[in-house]
Amino acid sequence: MIKDLKNMTCEDFQAQMAELIGSGEDASTHPHIQSCELCRALLADLETIAEAARQLFPVVDPPEHLWEQIESKLKEQEGESDSR
Ligand SMILES: [Zn+2]
Repeated sequence: MIKDLKNMTCEDFQAQMAELIGSGEDASTHPHIQSCELCRALLADLETIAEAARQLFPVVDPPEHLWEQIESKLKEQEGESDSR
């Protein structure tokens, strides 16, 4: 299903754009972007949004209480095996 990348429509490209960005591809090197100003502008917008989102929602470490829950679960199991 490989199409001529340069002759794909904006619709075709935009359908793939999120996937491209999501997979870590550099969408700005895509042949359609090179020849289509509209999609170039759209990509720039998307990248601005994506960048803002990364700053708003940085990858966080597992919260403290999660480890406490895991720990108490482990202790629970230890206690059970001791009593049996
Ligand atoms: Zn386009």
